[in-house]
Amino acid sequence: MSWRHPRAVALLLAVTLLPTIRLLAESPETGETRQPRFVTKSLQGQVVWLAEALSRLHGIKTVPEAADRILALETADGQLHPLVEDIRGRAFRRDERLRKMQVELLVRQFQGSPMVQIVQVFELAEDAKYEIDYWCEICSIAMFELKECECCQGPIEFRRRVAPAN
Ligand SMILES: [Zn+2]
Repeated sequence: MSWRHPRAVALLLAVTLLPTIRLLAESPETGETRQPRFVTKSLQGQVVWLAEALSRLHGIKTVPEAADRILALETADGQLHPLVEDIRGRAFRRDERLRKMQVELLVRQFQGSPMVQIVQVFELAEDAKYEIDYWCEICSIAMFELKECECCQGPIEFRRRVAPAN
């Protein structure tokens, strides 16, 4: 084989690189291709409205209608992490009690996205760390946000359980 033969070089490169490319594209758990890549991490702080925090921390003025558009986790050193508003994120919109507490959020940070997606919510209270969610006593089911029960449409209650030590 001659190295001056471009087709032969291309073929050799393809054969050499193929296993690497396949490794990158496949998730080991599912074998599915094009799995989004993310890192999971814990962030501590308070959930705030991004527009208010930008104004308070940086003097950035936003338009009035942006006031409650984006939620963010603000860490003690003033880092802002915008939250994906799925049902776990929306819990912080629906229940202002959650925006008053010190929290630890287990989040996913996707490659290429500044937004973080909440996986689990903990309250960092003075006496303990609590896992936070909502609970219907009648149906014995947990929900991620404050609303009518998915099952009986009755009222649900805020639930905090001491988080297992890890
Ligand atoms: Zn119910």
